[in-house]
Amino acid sequence: MASSFRKIIFLTGAGISAESGLETFRDAHGLWNKYNTDDVASLNGFINNPKLVHQFYNELRMQMAMAQPNDAHLALSYLQHFSSADIHIITQNIDTLHEKAFSKNIWHMHGQINQLTCLNCHAVIETWSNCFVYSRCPHCKKATLRPNIVFFGEKIFFESVIENLINTADLFVAVGTSGTIPPASLFARDARKNHCQTIALNLEKPENYCDFDQFIQGNLSQTLPSFVQTLLD
Ligand SMILES: [Zn+2]
Repeated sequence: MASSFRKIIFLTGAGISAESGLETFRDAHGLWNKYNTDDVASLNGFINNPKLVHQFYNELRMQMAMAQPNDAHLALSYLQHFSSADIHIITQNIDTLHEKAFSKNIWHMHGQINQLTCLNCHAVIETWSNCFVYSRCPHCKKATLRPNIVFFGEKIFFESVIENLINTADLFVAVGTSGTIPPASLFARDARKNHCQTIALNLEKPENYCDFDQFIQGNLSQTLPSFVQTLLD
């Protein structure tokens, strides 16, 4: 299997970080349940109550700062370092667990929890510190910072890069994603148009199951290291 793939694209979703103790939108408990997602993950929500949005992301940032990568993240990083294929990770996750696992070629399509962006000068600021409505941009000194997170209804980041990756890959692997939220849910279908092989790994059968040539079910910290090994053998 190993020698036949030259460009491998992994799409990772909330499932890969769940085993690192990070909750997802859909979990019926924890941080996401304390807040209404429309209030904290939409531009309208931010305009109406920026204080609440900053408070939410401050809590989430603290939680994500402490999270550690699990065997699934480490397996991907291992593959990137020991395979001769060109391997990219498109992630829906805003945590930085791929970075903590020393992966490379990571494309955060929904932004990163450790970044803020300035609505005035558009600078992107990396920080793990709390942000408040009165926090000032280090560049233009205005208090116009927002989380560098793609809110509902906003365009994903790296759209053209991602499109190019999907169109040029010969293996597309979706990991820990339920296949319900576009545009990510459409990547497998698009990849297939170019005769790319498609594989999904997840705890449960994804919604877009029919877009995959193969589905591997189970805990990702177990299934992904085994799968990665087949790419290296
Ligand atoms: Zn600024």
